[in-house]
Amino acid sequence: MRDVKQFVAGEYDVVVVGAGHAGVEAALASSRLGMQTLLLTISLDSIAALPCNPNIGGTGKGHLVREIDALGGEMALNIDKAFIQSRMLNTSKGPAVHSLRVQADKKKYHTEMKKVLEDEPNLNLMQAEVIDVLIEDNEVKGVLTRTGAVYRCKAVVLATGTYLKARVYMGEVNFPSGPDGMFPANLLSDALKEKGFKLRRMKTGTPARVHRDSIDFSVMEVQPGDEEIVPFSFMNMDKGLDIDQVPCYLTYTTEKMHEIIRDNLHRSPMYAGEIEGVGPRYCPSIEDKVVRFADRDKHQVFIEPEGLDTKEMYVQGVSTSLPVEVQHQMYKNIIGLENVRIMRPAYAIEYDAIDATILKRTLEHREIKNLFFAGQINGSSGYEEAAAQGLIAGINAAHNIKGKEPFILDRSEAYIGVLIDDLVTKETNEPYRMMTSRAEYRLTLRQDNADLRLTKKGYEIGLVSEERYQRTIAKEMVINEELERLKNIRINPTEEVNKKLEELGSTPLKNSISLYELIKRPELNYDNTIIFDPDRKELKREVKQQVEIQIKYEGYIKKQMAQIEQFKKLENKKLDHIEDYSVIKGLSNEAIQKLNHIRPDSVGQASRISGVSPSDINVLLIYLEQMRRKGKNND
Ligand SMILES: Cc1cc2nc3c(=O)[nH]c(=O)nc-3n(C[C@H](O)[C@H](O)[C@H](O)COP(=O)(O)OP(=O)(O)OC[C@H]3O[C@@H](n4cnc5c(N)ncnc54)[C@H](O)[C@@H]3O)c2cc1C
Repeated sequence: MRDVKQFVAGEYDVVVVGAGHAGVEAALASSRLGMQTLLLTISLDSIAALPCNPNIGGTGKGHLVREIDALGGEMALNIDKAFIQSRMLNTSKGPAVHSLRVQADKKKYHTEMKKVLEDEPNLNLMQAEVIDVLIEDNEVKGVLTRTGAVYRCKAVVLATGTYLKARVYMGEVNFPSGPDGMFPANLLSDALKEKGFKLRRMKTGTPARVHRDSIDFSVMEVQPGDEEIVPFSFMNMDKGLDIDQVPCYLTYTTEKMHEIIRDNLHRSPMYAGEIEGVGPRYCPSIEDKVVRFADRDKHQVFIEPEGLDTKEMYVQGVSTSLPVEVQHQMYKNIIGLENVRIMRPAYAIEYDAIDATILKRTLEHREIKNLFFAGQINGSSGYEEAAAQGLIAGINAAHNIKGKEPFILDRSEAYIGVLIDDLVTKETNEPYRMMTSRAEYRLTLRQDNADLRLTKKGYEIGLVSEERYQRTIAKEMVINEELERLKNIRINPTEEVNKKLEELGSTPLKNSISLYELIKRPELNYDNTIIFDPDRKELKREVKQQVEIQIKYEGYIKKQMAQIEQFKKLENKKLDHIEDYSVIKGLSNEAIQKLNHIRPDSVGQASRISGVSPSDINVLLIYLEQMRRKGKNND
């Protein structure tokens, strides 16, 4: 194929391959940072496609979406235009795990994002299949498409998702295909292999889409959206995003269905060993659930609309790669789906991905200059994880070309930092899904304060608008002023005060206390203490939320900030100057092998590499100290 007549079709700063969630963020970031950018994708009709669940956000993922927004990315703004239901998850738990999850109108999400790309200056959008990346002397020079077009450029971002050598499985039937009947990117996969890239097989799966009119909703539990809609984008917080929300529905599998699955396990390519790719542990197929949780007589199933202008319904919780013949029997044995009409059968898809430990924390290849990778190709799973990586890759492609400092977020600054650090430092054998439990500093990395944590950084690199920056600065000022004001309001143990406290189910005061301290009481909060604060001005919901969280969690946050200080100490002990770890006496062979492979930036990152022990870290610290002293003596 690569012998097709080649011609130079254009010259760009950055070429992004693939307009999925990673590619669109990468292309928007690099073009908004002034780079002449070309976004090439197999089909303009699958830009920002949601090939699986019709929702954005959820635990850990909502945090990523807010961080993308705070840094000037597009996902949150786009979903605020295309959501059809909104729910804040985990509100019965602490703010660290509160996560926004919204149902998306898939078509609208696609069309809105396509409009944004088409309107973006410095960005060209084109339908083409990239079949090779052109590299000379370990530096990227351009890409080649199936039609022979060569696009010369200074940096390339590969964001090919689940398309590289993609193969779809439905029981005994399997064939080369990307999601939803799109053709796979086989030639690029071959080209990467020829260049010596180790590609590994990954797998994921999706459930069937069924016809709305064939479902009996009367036997299901309605899952409505929240009354109060909280926008995903901070830029929409002052605007009411009131819509007529559509419900989802909760139903269950049955023992009969489990029996059908057990009787046909031998026809599942997963269980028949035909699929070699590793699937996401946290999105198991229904076969996996029936086998792994054999004692359960039913599993939850959520029926979710795919959009407003379609009758396709997504059957969440029943992804499978069993034959279509079996799927018809299985789905009929879900409560309320007795007369179900399947519109799109479920399937599993296997695809090539790289081992992301060959990348720096900028997502640039460690040996090939200006070649970046973002999204599912890096072994992650999820729209949000992909978008976060695309943003970082796009920023760093532009920074490299401009000769600017790399833009890296560490684990104490953002979930994006946790995501990328885990991908490039820890060898993950299965698709990586973000969860709050992965973030050790999650109390400070909440979704509600992403703007206060990151917007200044986005502004400094030129990606955040003046309006967004000023909005965040003003918000921060009002929060701090209110905290100060509450600290200076003294509440005295008068009869009237203690009577009001009793009415609020709180204990009477013995000594005078600041209103700030009073709000810390579990049964009190910012809103119900207004009776002690007649001069209080009405503040925005998001400001009140910050004030309350910062008061109530002050102790925990202080403790976490102290832990972060310790963390930063090791993160600041740089290692990127060390070329060969075998010269350092005392390191274990495994540590030498792992350190020479992953080439950590710092002692902190080295400490997170599996196989590098605490005593290896001590050896590194001593070595650095010796080098520092030697350096000093030479001065
Ligand atoms: C069947 C299925 C089930 C899934 N299930 C889940 C799940 O349960 N949970 C979950 O979190 N995530 C799931 N996902 C994953 C989720 O869809 C992806 O994580 C997300 O879409 C990845 O975004 P991305 O930008 O990396 O790639 P994608 O969204 O896959 O986009 C890649 C883009 O690149 C284009 N492209 C690829 N190769 C080339 C080329 N050579 N030249 C030009 N363009 C190219 C494609 O056309 C596409 O537009 C599933 C995906 C699929 C397909």
